[in-house]
Amino acid sequence: MAGQGLQHRRRRVVVLFSLPFQGHLNPMLKLASLLAARGLGVTVLHTDFNAPDPTRHPAGLAFVPIHETLPGEATSPYSHILTKLLALNAACEAPFREVLASLLMRARHRDDDVACAVVDGQCYAARRRRARQEQLDEPVPDHDPLRVRDLIRVDGCDDDEHCSFITSVADAVRAAASGIVINTFDAIEASELTKLQSELSLPAFAVGPLHMLKFQAPPVEQSLHEPDRGCLPWLDTHPPRSVIYVSLGSLACGDRLVFDEMAWGLAASGVPFLWVVRPGLVITGSGDDDEAPPPPLPEGFEEETRGRGRIVKWAPQREVLAHASVGVFWTHCGWNSTLESVCEGVPMLVQPCFGDQMVTARYVTHEWGVGMEVGEVIERGKVAEAVAEVMVGEDGALMRERARHLKMEASAATGSAMDGLVRYILSL
Ligand code: UDP
Repeated sequence: MAGQGLQHRRRRVVVLFSLPFQGHLNPMLKLASLLAARGLGVTVLHTDFNAPDPTRHPAGLAFVPIHETLPGEATSPYSHILTKLLALNAACEAPFREVLASLLMRARHRDDDVACAVVDGQCYAARRRRARQEQLDEPVPDHDPLRVRDLIRVDGCDDDEHCSFITSVADAVRAAASGIVINTFDAIEASELTKLQSELSLPAFAVGPLHMLKFQAPPVEQSLHEPDRGCLPWLDTHPPRSVIYVSLGSLACGDRLVFDEMAWGLAASGVPFLWVVRPGLVITGSGDDDEAPPPPLPEGFEEETRGRGRIVKWAPQREVLAHASVGVFWTHCGWNSTLESVCEGVPMLVQPCFGDQMVTARYVTHEWGVGMEVGEVIERGKVAEAVAEVMVGEDGALMRERARHLKMEASAATGSAMDGLVRYILSL
């Protein structure tokens, strides 16, 4: 949150900018509508790529494109995540600054004060060198419950490049921010929030879980893909807590081998499943077309699981997680997915793929106790065992009980941090 001192006390305006990924746009747009509902003027700057649809948002929000020129590697579902992040950052920097400058200029001629900009940003503890195998299970000092293996990791890229990206993000926060807005809530990360506040000497506002906050703000739906709602009546036909919902989010992509083992593990588990198999989920190396079809299922898989499984390209995830027949969420631990699962009291089977997902997975399994790992290596036999354990095993029952408690804590989050944030913005 970058501060901007101004002389006049007129209508306070907040400018928001998110990277054009599903998991970034959802909470940022929700924050935008909550701020607008509290009387602030809100301008959402956005890329042309994955541009939000203004007609699906409250009339009070202004949408301004930055008209970036993105190279193919920024948008291809097959590019490495770090390649995407670097390309997006490089392509957006100049147009973002230009549009922001002209916005500030125009605001001076109107009855508007731009109080601050809320921009995408994260602060990570990055490791400098790839850890040796034998260090992987060692605890990270001062970061209980994390082990070295849980630290943020992006496989398949140069460590130094990754490290310097994270350092730039952290440096930008230290140099320019007046505060930090975080989509979390005290009951799950109180000590981490205190630590962050004192390390950065900045106020931190835990305004989450954003998707649950309805107070004075209409619900925000900003799915980049059309959800297949046919899975909801399919879920209706199943008994309570009998289905496993499987989704690795909007960005993760993996090997064909892993995909096949997931499929055969699901088949061997005997458990009904709803599985999001989206284009780009499997690295094919063939082309970079966003409209590409989803990866084909392994031969014989559909016959083997007929009547027991439902495959969709994109699910109405929050409705799915809220559905009574969903018993477990097999997730990559993207932050939004994790919060959505926590808020519905659904225990998790975790398969972190990259970045902060490792950290989140460790919290899910060892701090909050609401999930277990699918396994370090995805192998059909282990997958089937893990699915059975979390669905009907004793450990699974404990996780479900804890998840039920966490759901109650989440629903008790009142939005008071939002009020504190608005007061702070008005004071800038
Ligand atoms: N999502 C969805 N349908 C799907 C898969 C994902 O609506 O089939 C939504 C999900 O509810 C979440 C977002 O996409 O809000 C994914 O964000 P997350 O942070 O979990 O993961 P990312 O996609 O950034 O890796």
